[in-house]
Amino acid sequence: MTALNENYLKLPGSYLFSTIAKRVAAYKEENPGRPVISLGIGDVSRPLVPAVVEALHKASDEMGRAETFRGYGPEQGYAFLREAILKHDYLDRGIQLSADEIFVSDGAKSDVANFQELFDASSKVALQDPVYPVYLDTNVMAGRTGAFENGRFGGIVYLPCTEENNFTPQLPDQHADLVYLCSPNNPTGSAMTRAELKKWVDWAAANNSIILYDSAYEAFITQREVPHSIYEIPGAEKVAVEFRSFSKTAGFTGTRCAYTVVPKALQVMDKAGKPHSLNALWLRRQTTKFNGVPYVVQRAAEAVFSPEGQTQIREVIAGYQQNAQVILKALQSAGLTAFGGVNAPYIWLKTPKGVDSWAFFDKLLTGAQVVGTPGVGFGSCGEGYFRLTAFNTPELTQEAARRISAMTF
Ligand code: PLP
Repeated sequence: MTALNENYLKLPGSYLFSTIAKRVAAYKEENPGRPVISLGIGDVSRPLVPAVVEALHKASDEMGRAETFRGYGPEQGYAFLREAILKHDYLDRGIQLSADEIFVSDGAKSDVANFQELFDASSKVALQDPVYPVYLDTNVMAGRTGAFENGRFGGIVYLPCTEENNFTPQLPDQHADLVYLCSPNNPTGSAMTRAELKKWVDWAAANNSIILYDSAYEAFITQREVPHSIYEIPGAEKVAVEFRSFSKTAGFTGTRCAYTVVPKALQVMDKAGKPHSLNALWLRRQTTKFNGVPYVVQRAAEAVFSPEGQTQIREVIAGYQQNAQVILKALQSAGLTAFGGVNAPYIWLKTPKGVDSWAFFDKLLTGAQVVGTPGVGFGSCGEGYFRLTAFNTPELTQEAARRISAMTF
């Protein structure tokens, strides 16, 4: 008989977004005259910028001519893109890395999901609660957890992120081999300062732990004390992998391009105590299981770093940041307490006393016809919170804000 990977059976159904969709559909059917605005999803609304579209067209034309056609490319990405990432995101910020420490991929989701394959099944995993679910679910699939009971998996070291600790993960009181940190954070919208991140880098160095640092929302950072890369922290190149994405930076959610930095200084021991380079192992993994990002998409990503591309994407991001301010103001005038929105496109609001995440969802839907995401959907510490996103259009965000500020909670 063929045996299943029964770890998959430990995963509770992914009901969050389907439950939301069902409740919204039912509401719309009963209230056809009341247009609903979604501030729920983490997808962008603005199109690709002109510099990117131009690069896509040009590269498509190249693909149609025999002299410039390209077939399989290097699995880890074309040198032109890796060099552009290196220069713009690292060297220009005073971070010394080399192009062969950068791996281009089709998304930060796949990379954060796949990276755990390089570690032993017994590795202890620590992650934030609330959390971007991919870190947790992929470790469940890999058999690193016990059963799901009372909203949590056995064997995982949860790092509660609550109002009390300013939504900042605190060092655990037990060992963890792998720590997932997400900053700027989805869903809380908080971001770790240099001093806070340094504590984690030092802890990882002292405890032989690896930090898997998801910085998909780096482009939204506004405060100087928030680092743009974990490699701004001395010693991080020996303990951390960094994940970045063009999805939210340049509207590539449907175009698909991201990259992961695996420094060559990052080594992990085998059971005999012999060190191995994670860079070499990740290259081995990618060359075996991945065949690279389309040439046209890599040219499009390269265009993000051109002077015009930079001006254009900064304008789009500024628009989303403006939306975040509009939402924060509306929540404030409705008497609600809200966090985030300063270094991230997410706003994390506290539901009124006695109103849980789902009750707040219903209240906002029926009272303002605005859809958000119940915080409890991201982990048990998300109960009593609610996530709104700044990714809708300015017009709809303003309309949603107007409706919210008119409500009493
Ligand atoms: N990491 C975080 C924290 C995210 O919120 C998301 C997308 O929502 C991703 C990674 C996925 O990014 P990508 O579109 O590059 O796969």
